[in-house]
Amino acid sequence: MRSAVFYGKHDLRIEDHEMPKVGPKDVLIQVKACGVCGTDVHIYEGDKGAAEVTPPTILGHEFSGVITEVGSEVQHYQVGDRVCIDPNCYCGACDPCRKGVAHYCEHMIGYGTTVNGGFAEYCAVDERQVYKLGEHTTFEQGAMTEPVACCLHGMDMCEIQPGHQVVIIGGGMIGLLQLQLARLAGAAKIALLEPVESKREVAEKLGADVCIDPIHEDVKACLKEAGMTWINTVIECVGRPSTIEQAIDIAGNKAVVMMFGLTKPDETISVKPFEIFRKELELKASYINPYTQKRALDLIDSGRLDVSSMVYEICGLDRLADILGKPELRAKGKYIISPEK
Ligand SMILES: [Zn+2]
Ligand SMILES: [Zn+2]
Repeated sequence: MRSAVFYGKHDLRIEDHEMPKVGPKDVLIQVKACGVCGTDVHIYEGDKGAAEVTPPTILGHEFSGVITEVGSEVQHYQVGDRVCIDPNCYCGACDPCRKGVAHYCEHMIGYGTTVNGGFAEYCAVDERQVYKLGEHTTFEQGAMTEPVACCLHGMDMCEIQPGHQVVIIGGGMIGLLQLQLARLAGAAKIALLEPVESKREVAEKLGADVCIDPIHEDVKACLKEAGMTWINTVIECVGRPSTIEQAIDIAGNKAVVMMFGLTKPDETISVKPFEIFRKELELKASYINPYTQKRALDLIDSGRLDVSSMVYEICGLDRLADILGKPELRAKGKYIISPEK
């Protein structure tokens, strides 16, 4: 089968790979759509990100497809089922798993990170990780379930209440999802900070009350003008020290600052503890997607969450190395790989 195999920093090869072995508890998924994620970029750049990878590995953890084979002990799925997966597989037996924080599992397996994933024609997945797509959900939308699940985990920690004022920094896919989730959580006013005009336009369509170009406009003055004088939540979706510092700066009293964007492991921010003290800020971060996959699926299937407007292009495996290596391409929006193309 055709696959994109990661061999090391900046070394991704399209190869003919042997078909995955289907264990008794596995289903074989013919991959229809697999999202290109920031985590893939971190891996491609040789950074230690959210996941540890031992090459050679087939990357790709945001995928959906059709079941073409089931192992002898599979109970809940059949050939022909349209499914997506939660790539993070927890052992269920270690201390963190038993304490209800399974995403800190000591034996975590990650499809597309620690074991082969979805940038290939087929992937074998333990049925515990499989979810059926809703009848209204396309494969491309299904591939967005994992990033939505990650966003939901972060959104839960933001504790937004109806009537709150929320600022989202960054209008990439994650920012545009968080924007909609903040709306669904009941935010009264939402501002989005994003330098790229086309992304600000999408954000406006998706319900941002005010979109600000942080390079050419005075952010605080724009917020004030929009009546946003007490920001309850700032969700940083860029992952740069400067934008995290900005998030702390514009947060209001008692605000939650959610550092959702992933920085490089060694980057630091400069913070005045006095400012955190004075405003009683809560600095939070969100790590992967524990227990949120089903809600993500249901939200997508309900049509209340638009996961299509932020997709820039659906393309074949041969484009993947280019997309991973070129930030100017990724700046255009979300890419989804269709291995059949
Ligand atoms: Zn991802
Ligand atoms: Zn565990």
